[in-house]
Amino acid sequence: MILPKSHRLTPEQLSEVTTIVTEFGCQIQPIIGAVRTIYAIVGDERDELMINRLEGLGYIERIDRIQSPFKLMDRRSDLATHRIRIGGATLGEGLFIIAGQCTIDPRNPQFFLETAAAVKEAGAHVLRGGVWKPRTNPYTFQGDVKSLDILMEASRSTGLPVDAEVMDESQVHLALDAGVHMLQIGARNALNYSLLRAIGRAVAERDTVILLKRSLHMGPINEFISAAEYIAAFGNPSVILCPRGTSPALDGYRNHPDESITPLLKERTWAPVVVDPSHSVGKAAYVQACALAAVAYGADGLCIETHVSPSQGIGDDPKQAITPRALTETISQARQIWALKHPVKAG
Ligand code: PEP
Ligand code: MN
Repeated sequence: MILPKSHRLTPEQLSEVTTIVTEFGCQIQPIIGAVRTIYAIVGDERDELMINRLEGLGYIERIDRIQSPFKLMDRRSDLATHRIRIGGATLGEGLFIIAGQCTIDPRNPQFFLETAAAVKEAGAHVLRGGVWKPRTNPYTFQGDVKSLDILMEASRSTGLPVDAEVMDESQVHLALDAGVHMLQIGARNALNYSLLRAIGRAVAERDTVILLKRSLHMGPINEFISAAEYIAAFGNPSVILCPRGTSPALDGYRNHPDESITPLLKERTWAPVVVDPSHSVGKAAYVQACALAAVAYGADGLCIETHVSPSQGIGDDPKQAITPRALTETISQARQIWALKHPVKAG
């Protein structure tokens, strides 16, 4: 990681730095911050001669060498001061809430519009709505691009930014062109490195936020953080980690709840952690307990499937969406736990 003395390198300086690192088989990736731009050395940055040559340049303040597989997302990275802001919230400065339906029903858009207004009323910062759905059974509803219009209409009517899952590059571009503010990478795609790269490339110059779910099959903590690094490496580090339960499931739950991974993630990365209790436990009745446990474990926020009339929903909604009333209660209790854990910020 190269920190220049000024706010950013001039084109001539950048070209000189690029020439040096290229000689050693590395590349430069600028990470544009609000105050200054820093330059990640992508590749093996341990070569002493390369470091010495870079340190010898008069316009370089210092080179930080982070011996970790995820240089940008590492807690010790200079990006640790990066703050993700969306929906009037700053991650880490108060309990952050994403809520809304698992799946938008294009035949019944009024449900989603009502859910949107209700989750706003409950205190959500971001509205979620599934447009394209990864379904285990190929004969069930796979989502519908028409739902993208409904999602954006709900965003306009509530003023809330919106989150939708994208599963391939064409959906990434459709969502970005429509103005989706947060792209969700689902549990099934969290290890799809070409999609991670494509998303990183697509959001590099934007203020889009990425919600990266934990894969059902992710074991080591580093595997999760490295997936976030794939996206950040293209220049947009606004990636939120979202544990959502893993396989094999705990008998009775949909998955094995993994909110307890939160403190372990926080030891290694500065990335905010927003837990999804809905997919973790998979039944509305258990969502609140899982949500509160997540905040007790140190989560920065929650992503909760909510529907004005769950039994009339589609996708996961009939079994795991909670009502806006239950959401309001969950948020109120979760805020109390958050305040206990962050006495200064909550004050
Ligand atoms: C969802 O959020 O509706 C979803 C499909 O999530 P996951 O990728 O965690 O299964
Ligand atoms: Mn769902």
